[in-house]
Amino acid sequence: MIRLFFGVLAALAFLAQPVSAASLAKNLFGAEDLPADMSPATYGFYSKGCFAGGVGLSLDGPNWQVMRPSRNRRWGHPAMIGLLQKLSRDAAKDGWPGLLVGDISQPRGGPMLTGHASHQVGLDADIWLTPMPDRRLTRDERENLSATDMLVVGAREPRPINDKVWTAGQAAVIKRAASYPEVQRILVHPSIKKKLCETAGRDRAWLNKVRPFWGHNYHFHVRLRCQPGSPQCRPQKGTGRGDGCGEAMGWWFTRQPWLPPKPGVKPKPKARDVMTMAALPKACRAVLAAQPKSPGDAIFSATTAAALAMPIPPLPKRRPDR
Ligand SMILES: [Zn+2]
Repeated sequence: MIRLFFGVLAALAFLAQPVSAASLAKNLFGAEDLPADMSPATYGFYSKGCFAGGVGLSLDGPNWQVMRPSRNRRWGHPAMIGLLQKLSRDAAKDGWPGLLVGDISQPRGGPMLTGHASHQVGLDADIWLTPMPDRRLTRDERENLSATDMLVVGAREPRPINDKVWTAGQAAVIKRAASYPEVQRILVHPSIKKKLCETAGRDRAWLNKVRPFWGHNYHFHVRLRCQPGSPQCRPQKGTGRGDGCGEAMGWWFTRQPWLPPKPGVKPKPKARDVMTMAALPKACRAVLAAQPKSPGDAIFSATTAAALAMPIPPLPKRRPDR
């Protein structure tokens, strides 16, 4: 009842202050606690958009744990949340102990107050490259535990892979993620892609989706294609042909991508700091104005809720092979 009261109050406050085209989108989307109670749909592009009908990944699952829960970025398009659950199960069968899930999206997507340029349409998720420990992490650990850097600390960029922490387990979970048709691309640091290229053997088609990018040495980033029911989702260009290994990666191993910004040149403002509502698809205003889902409905659809009401089985003991 109290929640309802505050909900009505919030709705009234919204009516009193109509969202203007000039409002900074990050402030509005960053303030949302729950997804829009509409059918699932993505509007716009991964780095300029929003989404409706989101669902949340529960903090714990049989084979995953959500990290940094205080950020409230465990929301996604139902296809994204479903894929993470599927990946966590399949990866466990492969021998990976489970997923530590980082940022997905805000409840209604949109630009964030801090961090990512993308992750705006509920179709991007970061998964830690640290294997999940064989116990439930405390709330405090989830907020403060550091992810493992897969590269040699202190080396010059592009820093080489650190074979003391990189295992066949990380390679297997990335390969598994790339195997799903709904996954459009996976972002990893160039040195991780190089390592995958060197160790893939003859089965190489999946490497096409694994794209080198800055950062992504603590986690890999999974991006889904635009989903059915989202005619206003703007797809990303295809990943071309071939495995993207060898010469295709040449540029990343030159100095150029790693040069510091030229002194005296003012860096451009970050997109989120200037992105107003006018820059987003018009539908994003309706997404912001929509009623929130009730917290119970928001976390899981009926079928998954039933699955999660079951006791959590003990975590698998098997560790990934070195
Ligand atoms: Zn990411």
